[in-house]
Amino acid sequence: MRMSKLLVPTLREVPSEAEITSHKLMLRAGYIRRMAAGIYSYLPLGLKMLRKIENIVREEMDRAGAQELLMPALLPAEAYQASGRWEVFGPSMFKLKDRSDRDFCLGPTHEELFTQTVKDEVRSYKEYPITLYQIQTKYRDEARPRFGLMRGREFVMKDAYSFDKDAAGLDISYKKMYDAYCRIFTRLGLDFTVVEADSGAMGGSGSQEFMVKSPVGEDGIAYCDACGYAANYEKAECVVEDKTYPDGELVMEKVATPDVHTIEELVGFFGYESYMFAKTIMYKADDKYIAAMVRGDREINEVKLKNIVGCIDDLELADAGIVRELTNAQVGFAGPVGLNIPVYVDNEVAKMRNFIIGANETGYHYKNVNINRDFTPDYVGDIRVIEAGDKCPRCGAPIKTAQGIEVGHIFKLGTKYSEALGLTFQDDSGNDNVVIMGCYGIGVSRCMSAAVEQGADDNGMVLPVSVAPFEAMVVPVNVKDEPQKALAEKIYEELKAKGIDVIIDDRDERAGVKFKDADLIGIPVRIVVGKKAADGVVEYRLRTETKSEDLSAKEAVDKIFSFVTENR
Ligand code: ATP
Ligand code: MG
Repeated sequence: MRMSKLLVPTLREVPSEAEITSHKLMLRAGYIRRMAAGIYSYLPLGLKMLRKIENIVREEMDRAGAQELLMPALLPAEAYQASGRWEVFGPSMFKLKDRSDRDFCLGPTHEELFTQTVKDEVRSYKEYPITLYQIQTKYRDEARPRFGLMRGREFVMKDAYSFDKDAAGLDISYKKMYDAYCRIFTRLGLDFTVVEADSGAMGGSGSQEFMVKSPVGEDGIAYCDACGYAANYEKAECVVEDKTYPDGELVMEKVATPDVHTIEELVGFFGYESYMFAKTIMYKADDKYIAAMVRGDREINEVKLKNIVGCIDDLELADAGIVRELTNAQVGFAGPVGLNIPVYVDNEVAKMRNFIIGANETGYHYKNVNINRDFTPDYVGDIRVIEAGDKCPRCGAPIKTAQGIEVGHIFKLGTKYSEALGLTFQDDSGNDNVVIMGCYGIGVSRCMSAAVEQGADDNGMVLPVSVAPFEAMVVPVNVKDEPQKALAEKIYEELKAKGIDVIIDDRDERAGVKFKDADLIGIPVRIVVGKKAADGVVEYRLRTETKSEDLSAKEAVDKIFSFVTENR
């Protein structure tokens, strides 16, 4: 491919819409353009990278025995109504009507349709196990689309679904996908961690996410270097921290605490450490209100809490007016004593003694509070967010934390969809059994962002051979110089003949412009054909390195060939 013929509209300025490196670079390098919030077009370089990722995903899915098919993106409502997800997706689902007023949606994920297809098309139990997949555009009206392709409202996903006769079969299908995912992310050059994930409202018996650690990742992950435990915050089990509280059960006292609202202010006021306080937070859970309590220095884990409460919509913090109504006090003085809504208490709070809470009266707190004496919780369990330094729930070593980009998710679904849609099979003895499912997603377009995010320097992208739009680049410094031009063209032709996906920057541009662009678009290996061309000498440079090497044209071609084929 010739740079002079390719639409690569690089930008010198950083577009103001972009906050993170990968988003900035994909815009600047002319890979993508924004059409609306969370909606992007792929320009030629971006599309080439997307296709390379898709192909790796496809090869590994095929190798694992999954079969590719393609579902529509415009979907009739019925299957989603049958599974209940027409409501569950809420505002995230793009819904529309056809000219006859029938309900449709743009597919956010396809469990229902695959289940329906297997129900319609699989004739005998002998056809199980079967795993089907597609690489397709998905639509989710995300509350906060951002970071370019990282969180889009239209994005490319590979989604696969396995269908088995029993749980043991599902374990095997799941393991095959797990292994395929490890191969895929390794080939994409992503440094990934597999973490235990929340199975949430989807039910199911287990789920893991593939995370790329990155400060811009939106998921918190907790991991233990000692035993290898790793989990999404949403799932990570919290161990109760041992703390010493005053002995016995002291008499509960109401204390005037005017103008004291936050835990920091309470700590200052009482002179106790923050673990002596418990905070009470009110939430709206669907159409009712609940209260949740964690130690003063902890955070409530809204995903864990939502799963326990069993509500459909995400929990919402109760607004100030409601808090005032429920507690008869200003915000900042809520507590469980005398509260008329269900109180969910964290395991750690259940171990506290003689502690301090809001008194449900503006300007007052209670001290020396004891659980079960002064108030009775409706639920006690793990509802807090794990923190760095907490004990690992498996081995007790200190937990570390990081942010992660979720690039893949595998899930033992069980029978939720097969039951809802009536996918059963008859065994040899004529008994009806429900088919057991797994589902497996990869954010193909998000992988693009992750790859760019992971490998970037001050000058631009640094992409691995496997996903870069071109494997190699030839840069004649001055195309008006005949020997340079001739040698560059010769090297370009030779690389093409050897099957290297190569681009030549044959533009009549200043050397500085060409070098800047070459760095920006991140092609992994480059040959610069400059003044020494007359002697048959060229510069060979890897994008990961600052130094270049003088080689003969033949040596350079051979070296590129081995580098590319070893890293493909
Ligand atoms: P997230 O928690 O990031 O919203 P999810 O858990 O809702 O994602 P899944 O339903 O598990 O997503 O989808 C499978 C994969 O699709 C995810 O692992 C992720 O890589 C990708 N993905 C999900 N939502 C988006 C999005 N809005 N933009 C780009 N990729 C996405
Ligand atoms: Mg997920």
